[in-house]
Amino acid sequence: MVQAKKTEKAERSDGRKLNEMRKMEAKVGIIKRADGSAMFKIGTTVALAAVYGPRELFPGFMQNPEKGILRCNYDMLSFSVTERKRPGPSRRSVEISLVTKNALGSAINLDQFPNTVVDVFIMIVQADAGTRCAGITAASMALADAGIPMRDLVSAVSVGRINGKIVIDLDKEEEDYDGTTDIPCAFMSRNNEITLLQLDGDISAEELKQAVELGKEGCKQISEIQKKALKERYKEIKNE
Ligand code: UDP
Repeated sequence: MVQAKKTEKAERSDGRKLNEMRKMEAKVGIIKRADGSAMFKIGTTVALAAVYGPRELFPGFMQNPEKGILRCNYDMLSFSVTERKRPGPSRRSVEISLVTKNALGSAINLDQFPNTVVDVFIMIVQADAGTRCAGITAASMALADAGIPMRDLVSAVSVGRINGKIVIDLDKEEEDYDGTTDIPCAFMSRNNEITLLQLDGDISAEELKQAVELGKEGCKQISEIQKKALKERYKEIKNE
């Protein structure tokens, strides 16, 4: 009798290696009327970003005479998730808009644009976890496309711990496992500066270090994809 093969449960929900990200795609210049725009896809999570500005900020009392200000707005389409999301802002979207602004703000320099605002709109059109990171990654390319002076691109990915293992780029199924720790992080890859680090769950100091290292490596790969998409956009503009 042939003995049945033991089917070992894959460590990751979709059989990926612990340090393997989902398939990624990036495109810059997707929205004609925006000053800068981009799309970033990781697995089935898709983020679109549009940048408008720098333009004069109204009402005037909100202006900063020393430099421009950055505003970020993150949202999800109602049917981007399996269970319809109520349209409009929520506590979650306000929090993500704020951390996105902080993650991007340290990379850009608006000193040359006093009294202005740069608006960044991020829309998640399809969500399978990691949306704040996909949004930051898309927005960073959109800011570069808009010609905003930047110290570096910002790249973001979620790392974490599932079943006691440190992994990169958790999908929704993995995020929903019991005891999962989710750590969205963002880096400027040139000098490995962290611009976002959030933690949802429990983790030891040693594991956190490992997770951040994994995130750093992942963000390097994302940064290459972002640069490639920007170069493709420059080629297109040259040929237009
Ligand atoms: N999600 C959902 N409905 C919501 C908000 C989130 O189904 O109203 C899902 C979506 O797939 C999202 C995931 O939950 O990507 C994880 O959300 P989280 O708040 O952890 O942020 P994210 O990982 O997307 O940055």
